[in-house]
Amino acid sequence: PPAIRKISEEHDKVFVSGCLEPDTSRPRANGAFVVLARNKELDGVIQSIKSIERHFNRWYHYPYVFLNDGEFNSTFKETVQNYTSGTVEFGKVDHDMWGYPDWLDPKVWKEGIAKQGDAAVMYGGLESYHAMCRFYSGFFYKHPLLAKYEWYWRLEPEIKYFCDITYDPFLAMIDNNKTYGFTIAVKELKETVPNIFRYASAYKRLNNITSQGLWEMFTEPPEIDSDAVEGEKYNMCHFWSNFEIARLDFFRSKEYEDFFQMMDKSGGFWMERWGDAPIHSLAAGILLAPRDIHYFRDFGYRHTTIQHCPANAPARQLPRDPFLEKTTSDERKRLEEDRYWDEWDAPKENGVGCRCR
Ligand code: GDP
Ligand code: MN
Repeated sequence: PPAIRKISEEHDKVFVSGCLEPDTSRPRANGAFVVLARNKELDGVIQSIKSIERHFNRWYHYPYVFLNDGEFNSTFKETVQNYTSGTVEFGKVDHDMWGYPDWLDPKVWKEGIAKQGDAAVMYGGLESYHAMCRFYSGFFYKHPLLAKYEWYWRLEPEIKYFCDITYDPFLAMIDNNKTYGFTIAVKELKETVPNIFRYASAYKRLNNITSQGLWEMFTEPPEIDSDAVEGEKYNMCHFWSNFEIARLDFFRSKEYEDFFQMMDKSGGFWMERWGDAPIHSLAAGILLAPRDIHYFRDFGYRHTTIQHCPANAPARQLPRDPFLEKTTSDERKRLEEDRYWDEWDAPKENGVGCRCR
């Protein structure tokens, strides 16, 4: 799509290219890894820590903030501390950030969630997943443990980095005046966000916000008989938020807060299964410009079935991956769409800005 091409070619270059020795000459930025997890996810968390430590943090030693709506047990805390090279803090997410809506009749939202479960909306029937998405949409950046930070790098259980990251992406984003960084953009499952665009679009219109060029990445002209809003419809594209490096300022702004409040009041986090990924993306589309966004096309990254691998990008052969053979047709479709997005920007030579293995 033209808009993502715009991000990469006109406004956004890879920060560093070539195989480099890790550059640790400058002081760290004021940033941290943020990991939301449960005790039972310890193995997946350790997998992710091993990967980010091996490929980046053993040189940079950024701190970690672990958050949980429950209490982390001592096994979790001790094990995590054994694998991290930066300082680690553990925090609880209180009810005011992990709430279920008190302004909605519990019968109504619980029924709404049950219906989504019956309709097999992905994670739609899981109350906790709804709460998680809402937390990452409107609260994580307000958590007391993040108050001292200006930047965060989101880390999830069971992810993998393939390439050494030999420069500091926080500093690179600061140097280049970037606000939000992603590495994979995919299409959302329509049934999780039937009305999200109606509300996002209303926020934009009610506040008289004109696009700075990024909105077009998320919109397309409607078909003749569609339910378009203001002559536009959501094309389902979103930055896949399980990886994110961003300025917390963006989320802490009045504009973002107003946006979140309006989205929250619609009930869409409960009556639909809005993910934090489309929420962050549509907010960016409204409030930011392409030049504020960075596509980390040099980061090799995998989360479950979707990956971005700079070394393989030019000639990726999906059927040859035995892991993919096992995926369902839906997942496969998403994968192919991921490849579609990536192809616009795949570096033409291997290992741009990194060493992959
Ligand atoms: P997926 O990536 O969309 O399949 O969803 P995940 O299960 O990976 O959840 C996204 C993130 O939220 C991960 O970091 C999870 O560890 C975390 N998460 C999801 N649900 C909960 C929950 O109920 N409690 C806590 N503490 N973390 C959760
Ligand atoms: Mn995940």
